[in-house]
Amino acid sequence: MKGRLPEQEPAGCFLCPDVEPRPLFEVWDRMFDVPGKFTFAECPSCGLKLLSNRPTVNALAAHYPEESYYAYGGVTGGRRGWLSATRQAWLRSKRAMTRGMPRLGAAFGADYALAASRPPGSVVEVGCGAGETLDTYKALGWKTVGVEVSAAARREAHRRGHTTHSIFEARNLPREGFDLVRMRHVLEHMADPLSALRTAWTVLRTGGTVAIDVPNFGGLLYRLFGAHFWQIDAPRHLYGFTPSTLARAMELAGFEGARVRTYSSGSGIGRCVALRLKDRKVPGFRSYRLASAGLAGRGFDAVLDGLLSPLARAVDLSGRGENLWVTARKTGNGE
Ligand SMILES: [Zn+2]
Repeated sequence: MKGRLPEQEPAGCFLCPDVEPRPLFEVWDRMFDVPGKFTFAECPSCGLKLLSNRPTVNALAAHYPEESYYAYGGVTGGRRGWLSATRQAWLRSKRAMTRGMPRLGAAFGADYALAASRPPGSVVEVGCGAGETLDTYKALGWKTVGVEVSAAARREAHRRGHTTHSIFEARNLPREGFDLVRMRHVLEHMADPLSALRTAWTVLRTGGTVAIDVPNFGGLLYRLFGAHFWQIDAPRHLYGFTPSTLARAMELAGFEGARVRTYSSGSGIGRCVALRLKDRKVPGFRSYRLASAGLAGRGFDAVLDGLLSPLARAVDLSGRGENLWVTARKTGNGE
């Protein structure tokens, strides 16, 4: 027998290292249908969700195909140059329209609001993909740095004028060099979220802000759909945060006064239903990715977002929305 590299490794709760995770159900890669089964588990002490056996770093690459993983959107294709230029012009005109009106700015999205609500500074985005979010900051005068593991996405981000790095480590970045650290749906992908939060703390200036969003495993959709909650996204998501576990992780990394809120899309429920239909082998839903892309392509996502947005707002007010959103400031230098 040839020696093969191990493909999976065990993992536990990084908040309660002595506690054995409790297995809940089996999960697999439903987006790309790559073979392999994993155990979705929960820490019985704090409620953090996790894959208690997960792919090794080498095995994980197969689950992030560069040509089709959505976070790398915009990596390929020759039309990008003028698209990016058009977008930059649009962002600049939005800035002119919303100057001095932060409420209006917020309507253009969380990153637009973050970038426009303070004087331009320097931002590092962890998991920047092809640099689409950083484009917003750059258009508003920010100095932009992106960290991205995908070489193809990183090249594209660099081409768009952002400084790039392949790993998020304090030694690669200026210490206390940033006004904002942005982690947009990336913490749940990381093998060691606590060390990433500590790095964020180290590279922030005193008074700087960290802004994070992750899926909410303490919310209504997970409660209703369980194994069909579309944001389980195994085995790319290694951890599932709840409001209290995210707050605890922030605290351990040195951040004080983190306030966790939720935000939702109306279309999240459609994606959960699509997953359920896929598992029941309903024709047309055999490929979740194609099914949900088809739904989005036919405008169903937008229709659901519109129809269900009052419901989504109500759920968010109760703190049980689909995603967690937290911002916190570095208040002291801690030394
Ligand atoms: Zn725990």
